[in-house]
Parts: sequence; C-alpha cells; structure tokens
Amino acid sequence: MKLRTKIQLFTSFFMFVFILLINASIYFLFYQNSVDSELDELAEQVNTILVAINQNEEIPPSELLKAFLPADGIIRIYPENGSPLVVHTKSSDYLGLPGEYSKSETREVLTYYGDRYATVSKPIIWNNGEIVTLHLSKKLVAITENMKTLFYVLILASVIIIIPIIIAGNLLARFLLQPIKALISTMKENMKHGKWKKIALTNRSKDELYEMEKTFNDMIDYLKENYEMQEIFVSDASHELKTPISIIKSYTQLLERRGQENPELIKESLDAIGTEAERMQKLVEQLLALAKNKEVQSGEDVNVTELIEETIDTFSRAYRRVIEFPEQGVPFYVHGNKDQLKQVFYILIDNALKYSDRNVIVNMEQFENKLAISVTDFGPGIPEDEKERIFERFYRMDKARNRNTGGTGLGLAIAKTITSAHGGAITVESSLGAGSIFKVLLPIKLS
Ligand code: ADP
Repeated sequence: MKLRTKIQLFTSFFMFVFILLINASIYFLFYQNSVDSELDELAEQVNTILVAINQNEEIPPSELLKAFLPADGIIRIYPENGSPLVVHTKSSDYLGLPGEYSKSETREVLTYYGDRYATVSKPIIWNNGEIVTLHLSKKLVAITENMKTLFYVLILASVIIIIPIIIAGNLLARFLLQPIKALISTMKENMKHGKWKKIALTNRSKDELYEMEKTFNDMIDYLKENYEMQEIFVSDASHELKTPISIIKSYTQLLERRGQENPELIKESLDAIGTEAERMQKLVEQLLALAKNKEVQSGEDVNVTELIEETIDTFSRAYRRVIEFPEQGVPFYVHGNKDQLKQVFYILIDNALKYSDRNVIVNMEQFENKLAISVTDFGPGIPEDEKERIFERFYRMDKARNRNTGGTGLGLAIAKTITSAHGGAITVESSLGAGSIFKVLLPIKLS
C-alpha cells in the first residue's frame, strides 16, 4: 500500500472514530438529559396529584385522578394485593404496561412494544386508609422524535466534517511526499547514471523535511569528495609504483642487451634494481599501513616515555646522530596501541633526521589533559602554504630531492591517521631556514 494511501486512510479513520465518539457522547448526553427532565416533570406531577387529593377530600380520589391523566399515558392505583384499584387511560394500548405495588418512590423508563415510557410510582394513603401505589406513566413521544432529529443532524454534521478532513489528509500526504518523491527519483537517477546530483532545496521553514533534503545533499557532497579522493589515491599510488617498475624494467632490458660483455653494468643494474625493489616494498607497506591504521588496534595503557626512549635508541644506533631527549621526572601514559604509537614517533624522528643534518630534540610535557610530544629539527623548515598539505597522502614538497631521501609522501599521512584514531592531533610549527617542530597531542591517561 502506498504511503499516501496509508496517510489518507489513517487520518480519515482516526477522525471518523473521533467524530463517532463525540457524536455518540452528544447523543447519549442529550437523551439522558431529556429523560431526566421528563422524569422530574412526572415526579412533580405526582406531587401535585397528592396535594390535590389531600386538599379536595370531598371529591373521590379516583375521580380526581382523571384530571391529571396525560394525553399519552396511564394512571393506576395498585393496592398491596390484588388487581389495580383505579386505571385511567385514553387508549387501551397502555393497559398492558408493566406496573406493580411498591413501598418506595421509583423512577424509570420502560420499553413496551418498541416505545419508551417515563414511569414514576409513589406510595400514597388511599381514602380507605390503605397504603397504595400511585403509578403514573407517560409515553416519551417528544423525546423519541427529538432523538431521531438529533441522530440525522449528527450524521449530516459528521459527513460535513469528514469531507474537509479527507481533503486535508490528501494535502498533508502530498506535502509530505513531494520531497520524498524528489529524493527517490534523484537517488535512482544517481544510481542509474553514476551521477552526484543533489536535490533543489524547497524554500520552506527549516522543518524535518528540509533537514532530510539538506542531509541528503551534504551526504552527496561527502560521498563525492570521498570518491574523488579515492580515485586520486589510486591514481597517485599507481603512479608512484610505476616509476620503480619502469626503472627495474629498463635495467633488466639493459642487462639483457649489454650485461654479458659489461660486468660493471651488472653491479650497477643490480644495485638500482635492489634499491627500486626496496622502494616498492616500502611503498606497498606504507599503503597497507594507511589502510590498517584507521582505527586503534587493541588498546592498552602505553608508557610513552619508554616508547620514545626505545625509538630514539634504534635511530641513534642506526644513524649515529644525536637525538636529545631530556630526562623525564615521571613516565607519561596514554591509552592506545603501542606499535601504532611507536610508528608515529618513528615517522617524525625519521623525517627530522632525513631533512636536517643537526641534532634532533624530542620533548614531552603535559598540557591540560593532553600529552604533547614534540620533535624539533634545525633543517630547512616548511613554507606556510605547505604546512597543511604535507599531511596529505603522497604530498612531497620537493619530489626530486625526496626521491633521494627515499620519501614516499605517505609518512605524515600515516602519522595523522594513527593520531586521529587515538583521539589526538598532529601539528607543525616551522620557520624557513630555521627548522620545524612537529607536535603530537594525545589524551593523557596518567603520569
Ligand atoms: P616522506 O616519505 O616524503 O618523508 P612524509 O609524509 O613523511 O613523506 O612527509 C611529507 C613531506 O613533508 C616530505 O616530503 C617533506 O617534503 C616534508 N617534511 C616532512 N618532515 C619534514 C621536516 N622535518 N622538515 C622539512 N620538511 C619535512
């Protein structure tokens, strides 16, 4: 069933039930009120009869009762035992109406052959001193007529109310479905033709439908941007792999052609092939690292002080360069993955050593609830407009020079991915010619 039909049916059904309940209440309240006032009137009349009987002792009560006989009703006097003492009525139709002796005053509505009768009975003292029951019944002619009229009026009113409700339901369904339909057709078109089409925002109040349209458009922007980034990434990655492959290929061709008569060429070619194979291996490893470091892999409390000391130790031994790390009073801890965090410091220290010839300084301090680890070098520095870009994948400031340093342009992107996954951030301060300070901020666990 279509949403539109559902909305239409639901609103109409709900309103129908609501109107039915209201009308039924009106109908029964009106009926109850009318019957109550009829019974009050009848009880009043019974009292008047009693007063008349008491005041006119010379007139026999059975005769006096005739004066109070209603046009559509019956007056009867019931003794305690036996048949009625008095029966007055203008029509024999009412003779069969149920009635009996009763010791207390009663008021009720009797139904007899489909007609309703208001009946009041009251014990009185008859002229022979006996206690009898005065029974006065009156057919509810006016009420029956009035209730019939009220019934038709309520039916008519209900129909008149239901029509605008159906129209309103229709308009509401249309109003709600218009943006949903636009959304569906845009999504279908995007899927069918591989497009990034957005929907035109309808200029209405900022309600949930507007919010839905806007979110859809934002999502399209987000997906498009991501898709384009992936495309660039794939093309950059293949481009990066293409260069070492072509170098390896040209050296193998060279070896094939002239290798046998030129032994020196064999050594040069094998060296070059080895270097390029290593470069490809590093590139592939880093590509994998980029993919797998998007989230923290099994976290624990990591002693960062110890981690940095280990990393510095590895570098100092391999490069014979001075990496200063002032003595820490207390060890600092963060929650995260040891190997991933080590990789961040490895990348930063490696860059500092690669891009400068002087000493490198690593520092650590607590900054509010963060741990700030800085890696300072005194190298060429980074121009202002490149500070953001160096964290992009494959971005290298000086491609030719970086090739010599073995750079892939992926290190800082990996460091940023890992830091973000740990709820931290990475920044750079630099002045050209003076050096750079890379700072990693991580939520501190304890110190
Ligand atoms: P790479 O593998 O090329 O070093 P990175 O992502 O680590 O890739 O660095 C991106 C670029 O940022 C580098 O190519 C280099 O130009 C620049 N860079 C990174 N660290 C430093 C630094 N300490 N000093 C100067 N330039 C740097």
